[in-house]
Amino acid sequence: MVEVPEASVIRQITERLDAVQERIVRACQRVGRRPEDVTLIAVSKTFPVEVVAAAVEAGVRHFGENKVQELTAKEAVLPGVYRGGDVTWHMIGHLQRNKARDVVRTADWFHALDSRRLAEELDKRARNEGRVLPCYVQVNVSGEASKFGIDPAHLTAFLDELAPFEHLSVRGLMTLAEPTDDPEEVRPQFRLLRTLAEGYDASANPRVDLTDLSMGMSGDFDVAIEEGATHVRIGSALFGPRGG
Ligand SMILES: *Cc1c(COP(=O)(O)O)cnc(C)c1O
Repeated sequence: MVEVPEASVIRQITERLDAVQERIVRACQRVGRRPEDVTLIAVSKTFPVEVVAAAVEAGVRHFGENKVQELTAKEAVLPGVYRGGDVTWHMIGHLQRNKARDVVRTADWFHALDSRRLAEELDKRARNEGRVLPCYVQVNVSGEASKFGIDPAHLTAFLDELAPFEHLSVRGLMTLAEPTDDPEEVRPQFRLLRTLAEGYDASANPRVDLTDLSMGMSGDFDVAIEEGATHVRIGSALFGPRGG
């Protein structure tokens, strides 16, 4: 059981949540989209589970974590939909194959599919668990060598390779844009992700449907929404700065 969150923490998150939602609404208005079509994923990494509980009180239902250990610890206290709870847990960070089983057992969604071998491992583990794991394929749109993700030039071949994996369901593409002070600079990166999703012919691939786009963080989600994001992953704008 998680302790009852402090009222002051709930109030602070509620205020920040209002501000974020306001930005989501305005970004949607600028391009004629519906705010209901944008899902806010609160990135709770590094914050304790009490803070997650406060965000639940404030009305948040989707949470993202980038480390398996942190995900499983928090999910044990606040179970996700897959395990009968009422929040949804998104594993948004790079995953090593030896942790695939933990993700299959605890995450509702996986956002960082970036290799065939990982797909194979997740598929095997999902089959053992008797489930289908909804995934995003991570694409490296910025071309930075330090970033994980499939090279845009290899995306079609990679998606085609996923067709045999019956226990994976690819729902879209995910990316991290280059860190920048001016989000306009990374607009072309978001646009590229959308173009890649639209350009893939999924008609012959039962495992792939690229309807969703997981893109946009605290500093750039307005632009990401303008470019078609369906899922934005927001940490510091909701929870404040992370330590360090
Ligand atoms: C930390 C993180 C975010 C959120 O970053 P903020 O700038 O705090 O909003 C989004 N996506 C991924 C993959 C992350 O690791």
